[in-house]
Amino acid sequence: MLSSLQLLASEGSLQFAVLLGRAGGGSGGGSFGGGGSSGGGGGFFGGSSGGGVGGGAGLAVLFFGGFGMWVVFMIIRMLIRRSQGGGMSNSGVDSTLPTGMAPAAMGETFGGGETARASTAVELTAGIDEIKTHDSAFDPDALITGLQASFYVVQQGWSERRPDLTRSVMADAIWNAHRMQIDGYTRSKQTNLMDGLAIQYANLVAASCDGHHDSIVIRFFVQSADYVTDDQTGKVVRGHKNLEPWCEDWVYQRSARAKTNPEGGLLQRKCPNCGAPLDVEDTGACKFCRAPIMGGDQDWVLVRIDQLPSWEWAMSNIPR
Ligand SMILES: [Zn+2]
Repeated sequence: MLSSLQLLASEGSLQFAVLLGRAGGGSGGGSFGGGGSSGGGGGFFGGSSGGGVGGGAGLAVLFFGGFGMWVVFMIIRMLIRRSQGGGMSNSGVDSTLPTGMAPAAMGETFGGGETARASTAVELTAGIDEIKTHDSAFDPDALITGLQASFYVVQQGWSERRPDLTRSVMADAIWNAHRMQIDGYTRSKQTNLMDGLAIQYANLVAASCDGHHDSIVIRFFVQSADYVTDDQTGKVVRGHKNLEPWCEDWVYQRSARAKTNPEGGLLQRKCPNCGAPLDVEDTGACKFCRAPIMGGDQDWVLVRIDQLPSWEWAMSNIPR
């Protein structure tokens, strides 16, 4: 499996993959509602008793499978670090993934349509070129690097139950859903932690323009623990502290009239309208110039998160 994936990497299909070290410290994880792991509803442990797994057999799979998977995963990570930029193996991972990690989505695209993922590298390149025809400064590599920072912002906002943090990343609809889920945790006095959360790879899997909006889809390959604690007792009430791999597609959109701002925009933590340090009202308006900046008119905003069925599925459906 490793060899086939190394082949895959050598074919250039992982050209946008970014291999990162673990997030500092391994503390203060967090997930993202819906799309995120333990988020209510769509999360891998959403719902009661390990949501979606259900039953003693499911819990056994979680316990034993989780540990086995962790061991496999740590070995894989070691191999990857040693080979520096080699492919990533998922051997042994797919069969032990918690079945609760079912596909789920949060948020909606502008216009409500599906954003097709590219199936080939040629299609992906065509999509990038399409966007470059009206934004010559569009640079997917730079964008992906910046978007990874926003991934951690969402994670922090989720775990610390601070929707004010994620307002500067998310478009209105997804942020409202995200905030409602955070409010649910606050009301039930619970905290969803994702210790050790780290992006392993971030791949561009789609780029397109439909004439109204530019769309890109970033596939995050992530590992983290995922559990919910009771704020008063500190006890784990759902999930567990084993590190597990999971994947999500994050869909970003902006107006087709928007262009990459050489002075910096949302990803550089600047208002894309007035250039002030980024400070966003709950309404999505810049606190300085009052312009609505989270509607995608000026810059990329996160509109949707799709949880993917498994690491293996996600890896085997990367454009190549
Ligand atoms: Zn502004």
